[in-house]
Amino acid sequence: MSRVYNFSAGPAVLPEEVLKEAAEEMLDYRGTGMSVMEMSHRSKAYDTIIKEAEADLRELMQIPDTYRVLFLQGGASQQFAMIPMNLMKNKKADYIVTGQWAKKAYQEACLYGQANKIASSEDKTFSYIPDCSDLPVSEDADYVYICENNTIYGTKFKELPNTKGKTLVADVSSCFLSEPVDVTKYGVIYGGVQKNIGPAGVVIVIIREDLITEDVLPGTPTMLKYKTHADADSLYNTPPAYGIYICGKVFKWLKKMGGLAAMKERNEKKAKILYDYLDESKLFRGTVEKKDRSLMNVPFVTGSDELDAKFVKEAKEAGLENLKGHRSVGGMRASIYNAMPIEGVEALVAFMRKFEEENR
Ligand SMILES: *Cc1c(COP(=O)(O)O)cnc(C)c1O
Repeated sequence: MSRVYNFSAGPAVLPEEVLKEAAEEMLDYRGTGMSVMEMSHRSKAYDTIIKEAEADLRELMQIPDTYRVLFLQGGASQQFAMIPMNLMKNKKADYIVTGQWAKKAYQEACLYGQANKIASSEDKTFSYIPDCSDLPVSEDADYVYICENNTIYGTKFKELPNTKGKTLVADVSSCFLSEPVDVTKYGVIYGGVQKNIGPAGVVIVIIREDLITEDVLPGTPTMLKYKTHADADSLYNTPPAYGIYICGKVFKWLKKMGGLAAMKERNEKKAKILYDYLDESKLFRGTVEKKDRSLMNVPFVTGSDELDAKFVKEAKEAGLENLKGHRSVGGMRASIYNAMPIEGVEALVAFMRKFEEENR
């Protein structure tokens, strides 16, 4: 068996320890004689799995009791609709558009009410985060929406926008659990887990209790109401049971690693290795404004499509996989999520140095 360094943006690398443990428990989960995949989601064993997963996530993020944690399906993309359907009481919301995912969320919200684009960085291909200290937030906006870490472009909000008292809703898919957060600053924090937590198929929604109501847009399907899932503790119907089980293991791994403050330190260290090299390289360069650089997704280019393609190909041959940039931007992108070991980033930079030598 040989594992590569996998720089995929998602689904992405998972901690090897977690995968090994899951493999050990595959045929017989702790004396139950069955796999978690084969188990009733109403069984005692599963009840413990989902409750422990929630408790560990609450501990990691210090989630106050006034927030609910929901394990849902439909990916982050389904939240683009669920958010306006559940939260647009005044049929008005403000969107800050800093990339493709925020843009999609904005376009979806337009189907349900008046969505206002109050800031955007599309003028410079989303290579920066706009100044959000004094935006024209609507008087009667139900919420202000951001995508906190822009997976495709590699930017991150280092400071949350001034929402002027309005509820902040954030898609954190690609920075989930990468550093400590103050949950109380948000109304809703959500993300698909396949970037930084677990396998595809689970989306975690952390939502302030008062935002969960029956007062939703007319015609909202039962399955798309937060209240349905909150009232049933995420077991209204069959949840993505196996995925939640793996997420639970990752939460335990994160606790063992020292929690989110330790992850932040580790992530900063990893990102610095790569960014420092990009800043000194004569061949490669980063594509976003330095102040807005993401710790998780690092896009870079050589300036030549031909060299970019050569790099991606040769990197793959050297065991450094999935470095091709998103189809909308080209170039390269290294996603260095929680589970990417520091050795992986060091190997990438060593390979880039060698490639630069050879292709000067
Ligand atoms: C990947 C991604 C999405 C889309 O997630 P799906 O689960 O495929 O719907 C949305 N937002 C961000 C920030 C992402 O990185």
